[in-house]
Amino acid sequence: MNIDSPIEDSLPTEVKSAVGSSVHLPEIDITELPSKLLPYGEGAKITYRPYTYGELLQFNQSKLSKSDQFKRVLSGINTSFPVDDLSYFDFIYIGLLRKISTFGGDKFTLTFGCSECGKSNNTYLGLTDLEFQDIEIPSLPVILDVDDNTHIEISTLTIKNYLFLLDNDLLTDKTAVYAASVTNMEFNAAKDLISSLTGDIIQDLESVDAMLYLGIKPIDCTCSSCDAKNSISIDEPGVLVSPFRGSSVATRSRIRFGWSRCYQSFLY
Ligand SMILES: [Zn+2]
Repeated sequence: MNIDSPIEDSLPTEVKSAVGSSVHLPEIDITELPSKLLPYGEGAKITYRPYTYGELLQFNQSKLSKSDQFKRVLSGINTSFPVDDLSYFDFIYIGLLRKISTFGGDKFTLTFGCSECGKSNNTYLGLTDLEFQDIEIPSLPVILDVDDNTHIEISTLTIKNYLFLLDNDLLTDKTAVYAASVTNMEFNAAKDLISSLTGDIIQDLESVDAMLYLGIKPIDCTCSSCDAKNSISIDEPGVLVSPFRGSSVATRSRIRFGWSRCYQSFLY
């Protein structure tokens, strides 16, 4: 080993994470996304890096709001366009990639409380267990003619607009969610227009929404205690962040004696 080279250069990713600096972490390219990168235009580039040990500690120790948790997840994603223009479901997908890449291997832990008996369960999933619904259209935005003079342009909901809805407690307001996906009109104007719609156009709007929906299908998990089937929705910040808490991270001991493997113990 050359004494002049920084020690981090010779360490596995996991140790670099543990050291806490993001400078030496790999930037991993993304070529596939639920949106097929349609919202970002030709030649868009997206990379992400694993979490640093310091970031994991912050997730564990602080009482961050949902919105702030999302922003932490977002902070390790680099894009050739404004990062908060990422579509919400692309963001969820990349968030899972960040988590998986941090711990090596290809699995992550999903913790859920059984809906029947309340027992806390851990289940281990890989990306291939997740079914993302891909976008079903050739290009964006989708244009919907309201009348002879007015049209609305609709794109996938961005993480920026998702956070706006979250911060203003509007995620359950369907009109607000539609309005937040309109790209050629200011939010309040779009909301007023959509509220005033009548007739067939409402069905058209719902069809467009379905075409743009990139959600993740819920995962069926069986409770280890009572065998009840639980359907777990994973497109929530809790899933992106909670596996860093306490026991759910300590899935198994990887401690080995001798340098070759003991670095793993930094993370557990
Ligand atoms: Zn149960």
